[in-house]
Amino acid sequence: MRQHMESAIEKLKERIDIVELIGSYMTLKKAGRNFKGCCPFHQEKTPSFVVSPERQLWRCFGACGEGGDAISFFMKWEHLTFPEALAELGQKYGVEIEHIPLQDKAAHYKDRLIGLNQKAAEFYHYILTSSPVGKNALEYVKNRGIHEKIIKTFQMGYSPSSWDSLSRFLQKKGYTRQELMDTGLVNSADSGRIYDRFRGRLMFPLFDHRGNTVGFSGRILTPEKEAKYVNTPETLLYHKRMMLYGLNITKEAVKKEDSIIIVEGEFDMITPYQYGVSNIAAVKGAALTTEQLQLIKRYTNKVLLALDSDKAGEEAIRRAIEVAEPLGFELGVIVIEDGKDPDEAVKQNEAAFKQSLKKPVPVYDFLIDLFIKKYPLIDPFNKKRVGEEIAPFINAISNPIVQSYYIKQIAKLLDVSEESVLRVVRSHGRRNKIVFQKKESVVKKTSRELLLQQFLLESLLQSRDNTITEKLKTILTRESFTVPSYGIIFEKIMQFPQGDSPFEINTFTKSLPPELTSVVDELYLHAASKEQPENLSVEKIAYELKKSLLRQKMKEILSLPEEKQEEKLKSIQTSLKELEKMSSTE
Ligand SMILES: [Zn+2]
Repeated sequence: MRQHMESAIEKLKERIDIVELIGSYMTLKKAGRNFKGCCPFHQEKTPSFVVSPERQLWRCFGACGEGGDAISFFMKWEHLTFPEALAELGQKYGVEIEHIPLQDKAAHYKDRLIGLNQKAAEFYHYILTSSPVGKNALEYVKNRGIHEKIIKTFQMGYSPSSWDSLSRFLQKKGYTRQELMDTGLVNSADSGRIYDRFRGRLMFPLFDHRGNTVGFSGRILTPEKEAKYVNTPETLLYHKRMMLYGLNITKEAVKKEDSIIIVEGEFDMITPYQYGVSNIAAVKGAALTTEQLQLIKRYTNKVLLALDSDKAGEEAIRRAIEVAEPLGFELGVIVIEDGKDPDEAVKQNEAAFKQSLKKPVPVYDFLIDLFIKKYPLIDPFNKKRVGEEIAPFINAISNPIVQSYYIKQIAKLLDVSEESVLRVVRSHGRRNKIVFQKKESVVKKTSRELLLQQFLLESLLQSRDNTITEKLKTILTRESFTVPSYGIIFEKIMQFPQGDSPFEINTFTKSLPPELTSVVDELYLHAASKEQPENLSVEKIAYELKKSLLRQKMKEILSLPEEKQEEKLKSIQTSLKELEKMSSTE
């Protein structure tokens, strides 16, 4: 059985072209024998993410340092467990993966809960669309102008006003009390009995971006004393911070349009969608989170906020800047006339609404405007207030051109010198109320010697030119490398039978003891992420390395008692001279 599984995985790996797979999610550029791009798993501006078509591996040489094969990339990208990734890739590439070993109990349980939620969604949907119990609710939805097709697309439903109709339905389907509790669909009373959480509400299943039903949002039809919305609490499946309602349906459009419109609440997403606004998703609660932005980043870099323009909406916009700026997003605000919400606005005047979508206000202009409205520029003190309110935001802009542009703008608006604006902005850098968590890229300091050794091996592994190998044999030995594994790898390359055929990385890797494979892969992939030191040739580097080793040795000898020094020094000096001669004739 196990063997069967392993061969299926091998077969799958053979079918997948890692460059094609990863390239379908992000931009890769050819770099020597490998491909390079900006790492999708941490924030970076210069690419340090490398994919090797020959080794079928990927690796990040930046801050996160992640790496692996096609399957592990897919797992990380889609947030899947190993069995989930196998199943999905198997289907995609036509490899039958039978009997996925569900060692991963947690994943199995999650699957079961997703199935349970799906059943519940079907139950609610049936009640809304086909049962007399849901008649009022259906009327309500239709009165709001929602078409039948949309009700279906979003699987809208209705939860009957009974204490246990859903629980009974699901228990009949074989789900346990514990499972019901774990989806958040039921509450338990003091008596220990369970009862349905959602009663008498219009139901919106909450899907993750892959279309799994992870939770629900229930809206009351007639606003009374009860809360307008009841949502699934945080569960194994549902995390409010990650929820982008509608993205499972709109993600392709978001990618195509290269922007996403963010609204708050289900109807503000659904109604514009029905009117043809396809690149839209809703957040629950006004704040945009880092988790949501990381999800968005897969599809676009441009976020357009169409949130309420009331106090809470403003606060949401401020907070959006805090999380989006360090992640390198372009933020815009969609200003809807008369402060209506998108649901109302699109119904009342479709053309005007769509026009406003086309003219998003850059978020900083929006804020400046906002502060000037708050403190009309009638005296110098209000100017000071406007300057101070906007300063932390301007100070945190990471792009110097954008920042400089706004400093100019503000100076013009306040009719003061740029110098004074700049001073206020800078002074807010230190006692900044907003904490911008800019991630410094972790650059490991590597000594020059180590760098040279790595570069040599990287070049040898990438090179298809046997003459370089022959040449290096005369200059370096295993002992020339201070890292033992590097020395062994060097020796193995030198010993590797080549003849007339060019060096082949896969054959070479197979000939190595397994503990060296990962070191070789690291070197092989690393070659694409770094520039050659000062554009020196491989030979020049070999000479430099050799020289620095001899000098090192000399130092060691000089620390010995004098009588022991002389002879050893002589031999080193001869070697150094020889080396000078050799390297100067090149
Ligand atoms: Zn990374």
